[in-house]
Amino acid sequence: MPAYITTRNCLPAPLLMYDSMHRKLAGSAMTVSSIIAGSEPGLHSAEVTDLELPISPALGLQLIDCPDCDLPALLAAARAAKEKFKPGTVTYSRKVFLPLTNLCRDYCGYCTFRRDPGDSGAHTMTPEEVLAVACAGEKLGCTEALFSLGDKPELLFPAMRGRLRHLGYKSTLHYLEAMCELVLRETTLFPHPNPGLLSAEWIERLASVSPSMGLMLETTSDALLAPGAAHDNAPDKVPAKRLHTIEEAGRQKVPFTTGLLIGIGERAKDRVETLIAIRNLHERYGHIQEVIVQNFRVKPSIPMAHWPEPSRGEMLRTAAVARLLMPGVNIQAPPNLNAPYYDELLDAGINDWGGISPLTPDYINPEKPWPHLEQLRLRTESRGFQLRQRLPVYPEFLPQALSRGGLLAQKLGAACDRDGLVQEMRAA
Ligand code: SF4
Repeated sequence: MPAYITTRNCLPAPLLMYDSMHRKLAGSAMTVSSIIAGSEPGLHSAEVTDLELPISPALGLQLIDCPDCDLPALLAAARAAKEKFKPGTVTYSRKVFLPLTNLCRDYCGYCTFRRDPGDSGAHTMTPEEVLAVACAGEKLGCTEALFSLGDKPELLFPAMRGRLRHLGYKSTLHYLEAMCELVLRETTLFPHPNPGLLSAEWIERLASVSPSMGLMLETTSDALLAPGAAHDNAPDKVPAKRLHTIEEAGRQKVPFTTGLLIGIGERAKDRVETLIAIRNLHERYGHIQEVIVQNFRVKPSIPMAHWPEPSRGEMLRTAAVARLLMPGVNIQAPPNLNAPYYDELLDAGINDWGGISPLTPDYINPEKPWPHLEQLRLRTESRGFQLRQRLPVYPEFLPQALSRGGLLAQKLGAACDRDGLVQEMRAA
């Protein structure tokens, strides 16, 4: 029995799938089996693979709360959907992590990254530091320069305004744009900026120096803005504002990474609503290249230090429901936040491990090191998949990035193979 099955009334997975008495034995009026197979009790492998996709929001709401004994059937459906979408392969992006500045005007309750000016560890990278890290990553076969940074710190901190003036820039976004351009021009890496909320103008400017960009939606629940909740005192985490940025990227056809953060006070129902909001935008604009399912991890120094972490079962259910709601979208989960059980996520239908760095730590979760790439390869292969390195822009979104022309298009054309993935000889 898989380790994530924890409670009573569960049959071993093979029996669950083929036992016509399953519904009775599980003691549940509505099981995944009966949901997927109509009103018939029992789940057969053919029915798992024949599930009509994408599933409806109502079915997503039922599945995300399914009892443990139905989890194997849910996972089987999700894995079958993944195999229809991208058979045999799981991808990752070899990256360097560039924390351009860890100053931030928001105070999210789970964040260990942000600093105020003068705090120990507060830092804004210089152009020389950015280039040094990117060049070191290039030597290790990295193809992504992930710029992760606090949201518009200069709006709150005069010290940041002074720092930017000293560097020669009007705002953090002006500085970010210049650093993306520097990395694009001077190295073989591709920038992937994650700077927080963006206006239409800034999406357009950053899209000319990066093939893709990202903003985690995290949640559509306004309840998390309440006093004492995770997004209390985080003005940039208002869900409507984040949806607006993601929608604007869609209008401009920018390949976009987003996702949800689970376990920060939202309900299971909110997770489904967040996924549906992302799906709606993707149906409208076709620009969501990837949905990240990220789990909250507790850290001693954060305001949410005593908050419970989401269980492995919750993580697996969310990933599986994401896959079934969006069968044609790349679904990613970070392995370092799910170690040592991360390979179980492959059973939940994910097809990507996200950015993995052989050089830099995960500055957002520094206590959770990324797995060694060889380890990741072995664990991926043990579940029956080939691990391939991708660019920060997914293969199916390359045409959108290439259409921007210029140096970006020239470099992209040279970097990928006929599958739109990183050429094997470069993927050392
Ligand atoms: S999670 Fe992002 S927006 Fe929130 S405090 Fe941390 S750096 Fe700022």
